[in-house]
Amino acid sequence: MSQILTGSRSVSKVVNTVQQREGGGFLVRRPFPTQTMLDFDPFLLLDHLGPVHYGPNEAIGAPDHPHRGFETVTYLLDGTWQHKDSKGNSGLIGPGDVQWMTAGSGVIHSEMPEDEFFKTGGLMHGFQLWVNLPKVDKMMRPRYQDIPATQIPEAVTEEGLVKVRVIAGEALGVKAVIDTRTPIFYLHYTIQPGGSIAQPVPANYNAFVYVIDGQGLAGKEERRIKESQMVAFAQDGEDIALAVTADAKAPLNVLLIAGVPLKEQVVRYGPFVMNTEAEIYQAIRDFNSGRFGEIDF
Ligand code: FE
Repeated sequence: MSQILTGSRSVSKVVNTVQQREGGGFLVRRPFPTQTMLDFDPFLLLDHLGPVHYGPNEAIGAPDHPHRGFETVTYLLDGTWQHKDSKGNSGLIGPGDVQWMTAGSGVIHSEMPEDEFFKTGGLMHGFQLWVNLPKVDKMMRPRYQDIPATQIPEAVTEEGLVKVRVIAGEALGVKAVIDTRTPIFYLHYTIQPGGSIAQPVPANYNAFVYVIDGQGLAGKEERRIKESQMVAFAQDGEDIALAVTADAKAPLNVLLIAGVPLKEQVVRYGPFVMNTEAEIYQAIRDFNSGRFGEIDF
């Protein structure tokens, strides 16, 4: 018997994050993975990088490293990154740009501050989300979707209080240009004081909101949410409700991220995420024997 859902989902969990130094010295907030939340199926990791102000020659990056079995999604708000990989791809990611990299069978890439940005310093602020691939796609050919800010679809509500950038999925009648292997929503909502949304999300999707800045109300119980919180939702309604009170001093900026859970075994070892330990050993062997290639330009 199928349940008939009405109204908005309720909040199931709120995770407060703290800014910490991760490998390489990045100042990040990492709502998951943590010891209590190993993943958020189909998502494996979310890093909120910065905002951090670098002086000249201070900015740090992630030199050559491999990935296999999942996707890395980079979304920058400030600063400029330069990426290169073992398949010969390279390019810049700037404010508002998105890079959706499907590592599949494996790439080695580097994610570094762009030369000029490194020299002058400046504000760096962005996100990296890891999206797991289903078993059938883990060894697919690597794929890049580099979408500049100007090509990320946006929509604004009639009264002008809500803006959304549609990185994946669909919102306010606008569809994303990025193609995903499994159904995913990745929406950047900016809600002005007095504004509200009810974003339809199918009941079988796992869904959360990450609050970039501002304060607001979430879910059918109108739970108070604020900066740096991850807010997970129960699968008990047909939309995700967010609102900002009319007397708020600032807009609410959130990422609304949702996806159909894969419900498959997850075995992770650093930059490799597979379904079995044997596949992890194979990834390590392939990497050590040079089968991921190298960055040679
Ligand atoms: Fe990487």
